[in-house]
Amino acid sequence: MILQILEYGDPILRAKGKPIENVDDRIRELAANMVETMHAANGVGLAAQQVGEALRLTVVDVSLVEDRPSTLKLDGKEVDPKTAMPLVLINPEIELRGTSEAGVEGCLSFPEITGTIERTKSVIARAQTLEGGAVEIEASGFLARAIQHEGDHLNGILFIDRMNSAAKAALSSRLKRLHKETRRGIRHREPLVSETTL
Ligand code: ZN
Repeated sequence: MILQILEYGDPILRAKGKPIENVDDRIRELAANMVETMHAANGVGLAAQQVGEALRLTVVDVSLVEDRPSTLKLDGKEVDPKTAMPLVLINPEIELRGTSEAGVEGCLSFPEITGTIERTKSVIARAQTLEGGAVEIEASGFLARAIQHEGDHLNGILFIDRMNSAAKAALSSRLKRLHKETRRGIRHREPLVSETTL
């Protein structure tokens, strides 16, 4: 089922996600719906807050991103990132690794807005799986960026918080308008197609 994606101005985007204590059918269904919603919106990542659930759950799929490479190790074993997507991360603990680099990002909760954000080039994420086990994910490149963006969502942090002040000032009137329209419940979404929308 495709869920409604909440936009900037909705207070739940600022909520810290609660840890998931039991990976039950409700969580499995929510994760499946989030994957479906992310794919339908041409996004590469989606956090539970973006569909109205303040939980530590996020999904990522970078398999269609051709121009920004990624590497992935699952439990220490190198795998082709494409074959491992979509990733479902439950209660992820994310450790930042390596130096930072700037890169362009979008966000499904900010239609038509992109920004250049500094992120570390790699991460290690320890998370629970839908099957009830645990997994260690070591990622670099675009996947590392996507995991950092989603990890921020789980803490109520949005990519605009990480833009430099000049970039944020340049977007300020658009952000105010989006915030106001969301608060008033005006739906104005247009299908945004971007491979960098998380
Ligand atoms: Zn986002």
